[in-house]
Amino acid sequence: MLFLRSTVAAVLSASLIAIATPATAHTHAQPNHTDHNGHDSHNTATTPDTAEVAPEPTISIIPVADGVYMLVGEGGNIGLSVGEDGVLAIDSQFAPLTEKIQAAITTLSDQPIRFLLNTHWHFDHTGGNENFSNSGTVIVAHNNVRERMSRDQFIAGLGMDVPASTPAALPIVTFSEDISFHFNGETIHATHVNPAHTDGDSIVHFPTANVIHTGDIYFNGLYPFIDVSSGGGIDGMIAAVDRVLALADDETQIIPGHGALSNKAELEEYRGMLVTVRSRMQAAIETGASIDQILTMDLNTDYDATLGNGFLSPEQFTRILYADLTR
Ligand SMILES: [Zn+2]
Ligand SMILES: [Zn+2]
Repeated sequence: MLFLRSTVAAVLSASLIAIATPATAHTHAQPNHTDHNGHDSHNTATTPDTAEVAPEPTISIIPVADGVYMLVGEGGNIGLSVGEDGVLAIDSQFAPLTEKIQAAITTLSDQPIRFLLNTHWHFDHTGGNENFSNSGTVIVAHNNVRERMSRDQFIAGLGMDVPASTPAALPIVTFSEDISFHFNGETIHATHVNPAHTDGDSIVHFPTANVIHTGDIYFNGLYPFIDVSSGGGIDGMIAAVDRVLALADDETQIIPGHGALSNKAELEEYRGMLVTVRSRMQAAIETGASIDQILTMDLNTDYDATLGNGFLSPEQFTRILYADLTR
């Protein structure tokens, strides 16, 4: 009942409407409307309460470090390296936003957008790929990003069909472990991590600027989506967070996949949450409880109020954890 199948088109239009509410402003497309108490969910993509106040999406430019910016619009946070060599962008949000994203970048640089690096295959990070590619940008990602974008996908945790991307949207440079961009006086290093949010995640490190873009292994201020059907899992999420923490110090600026610009202390708190919710779910599963029984236990009331009003309701997050840990 919770996870009805829906089309990407419906979800995308719902997403562009749903940005009116702050709770969904920096999240993935919203497939289900929830009551924000997390105990009910309906697959009504367009609800009057959000539709009537829908503004045009705008792109905010947030300076992160010298030559590094974060763009916030709709979909995953974009990272930018801007300098004399040109522009490198990390993730591309949704196709309808490309012109606004490119216009925002033009205010920072008159140089071309030479590279687009995708942190993973999800359409709220790759939806603008084709437009960037058609403008001459070279798209780079882990092998599994191209692989998944090349074929129809079904995201079980959201009940969502995602059709294969057009050839122009696909990364044309792919890597298996890591890749470096010697660009704008920096060695920008993208490293694939073991399956976490998906099986194609990369974290992107700017060692000189002391910035890390985490992709969707980090949702700041909301429960993270874990795409189990794309190979993700909470153990991998925790391990990937540890990879980021090992690169960070107290001055590091951390661009999360979703949510506000962050830092090491907040990421450590997020890691603590992941470990706690995992052990609670593991303990509940070991009692032999069914998912319906576990849902009545309200395992994470301490986190639900702050993290359960974003992309995932507490119930959705609980179901994903259950599916992950009972595989
Ligand atoms: Zn995302
Ligand atoms: Zn994602």
